[in-house]
Amino acid sequence: MKASQIIAKALREERKNLLETEAKAICIEYGIPITKFKLAKDKAEAVRFADAVGYPVVLKIVSPDIIHKSDVGGVLVDLRNAKDVRNGYTKIMRNVKMHNEKARIVGVLVQEMAPPSTEVIVGMTKDPQFGQALMFGLGGIFVEVLKDVAFRIAPITADEACEMINEVKAYPLLKGYRGTPPADIEAISKILLATSKLVMEHDEIKELDLNPIMVYRKGAKTVDARIILE
Ligand code: ADP
Ligand code: MG
Repeated sequence: MKASQIIAKALREERKNLLETEAKAICIEYGIPITKFKLAKDKAEAVRFADAVGYPVVLKIVSPDIIHKSDVGGVLVDLRNAKDVRNGYTKIMRNVKMHNEKARIVGVLVQEMAPPSTEVIVGMTKDPQFGQALMFGLGGIFVEVLKDVAFRIAPITADEACEMINEVKAYPLLKGYRGTPPADIEAISKILLATSKLVMEHDEIKELDLNPIMVYRKGAKTVDARIILE
C-alpha cells in the first residue's frame, strides 16, 4: 500500500497512531532505511519468519492500543534461535495482556536486529504557526536529558540538513570519538531530507518519530518509527 492509502485506511478506522508496520511501510516508500520485518500472526509463523530474517531477531508487539511498546514488555531483543522466539512470543503476549487485557493484537513483528551503534533521532512536530518542524539529535541522554537538538522548518534543503547535524553539541561523537567509529553523516542527512519530503506530502501527519536510528560507518537503520495523525 502507498503512504496515502495507509493514512486513509487508518483515518477510516479512526486510528490516529499508525502501527509500526504502517509507519515503516511509509518509510520504505520515501527511501528511509529500516530494519527488515515480517508480521507474524502466530507462534509458528514467528519462528518461520525468524528463520527467514536471520538470527538474532527482535520481537515486538503490534497493537493499535499500545504506543510505547517497551513500557509494557512488548519488545524483546537479541533472540538467537527458534526456541528463544517461541518463548519470547509467549512472554510478549503475557506481558501485554497483563498490562491491558483488552488490547487488540494485530500480531508480533519479527525484525532483523540492528547491531548496536551510535543512535540518532529524527522527529517532526507541527507548530501551529510555522508548520512542520523537523528535529535532529543523538539518542539517549542527548535528547532526553540535555535537550541537545536542532530544529528547522520543513521543507529543508540538503544544506539545511547538514546544518542540523553540525549544530548539535554532540556532533563530535558522530565524527568518531575514542572507541566509537565515525558515523555516516551523509546517510543521516538523506534521512532528514526524506523525512522533510514525507511530512510535506502528507499534511495529515501531526507527529513523526524515527527513534532510534542506528548509524554505522556506512549506512543507517531506523529501528522504530512512529507516526501520529491529526
Ligand atoms: P518503543 O519505543 O515503542 O518502546 P522500540 O521499537 O523503540 O519500542 O524498541 C525499544 C528499544 O529496543 C529501542 O530503543 C532499541 O534500543 C531496541 N530495539 C528495537 N528494535 C530493534 C532492532 N530491530 N534492532 C536493535 N535494537 C532494537
Ligand atoms: Mg522507540
